[in-house]
Amino acid sequence: MKHGLLIVLSGPSGVGKGTIYSRLLERIPDLIVSVSATTRKARNGEIEGKHYYFVNNEKFDSMVAAGELLEWTETVGNRYGTPRAPVLAELSKGNDVLLEIDVKGAVQIKRTYPECVTVFVLPPSEEELKRRLVGRGTESADQIADRLALAKKEIAEHEIFDHSIVNADIDKAVDDVIKIIEKEKRSKNIC
Ligand code: 5GP
Repeated sequence: MKHGLLIVLSGPSGVGKGTIYSRLLERIPDLIVSVSATTRKARNGEIEGKHYYFVNNEKFDSMVAAGELLEWTETVGNRYGTPRAPVLAELSKGNDVLLEIDVKGAVQIKRTYPECVTVFVLPPSEEELKRRLVGRGTESADQIADRLALAKKEIAEHEIFDHSIVNADIDKAVDDVIKIIEKEKRSKNIC
């Protein structure tokens, strides 16, 4: 039976996993992306159905209650979840699916879908992570402090992931993830 690989890219906020994710999609155009549902408000330029499905708390509650999410978590004040049906449908068609989700969600998905491959993206240092979070200018000082405190806890747990890479150089980080995907596909006999 055909079956695709579920690749879960995770790591602390600000580590650059969004950039790695975009570069992976350019390098492996066949990868399928999953669009998450979130209760967070859309930022400037974000498009409904492309970046996220922006939903209210009631809608998110009903998705959770109906078992429509493969995993979900509350992080830094908002809820985020991966819609189950589209991901499972793509995997069963033999397509590889890439998720970019937070650490709690990645841990959850590994429990419910152990065949997935989890990749943790580490910053070169905590100072560099802070510099990146401040530099992107999308969060307030309080939100940055919250995200940094959470990042410390998440980094301490990175060994439970199948693989860890350091995002010091973006090209090298993307190459590292591609090597992991190729190796996992060979070992799981997915071509
Ligand atoms: P942001 O608000 O910056 O878009 O995302 C905040 C965090 O939520 C990021 O770490 C991102 O990876 C994570 N995230 C996005 N979608 C999902 C999802 O569907 N599930 C989980 N668990 N985390 C998500």
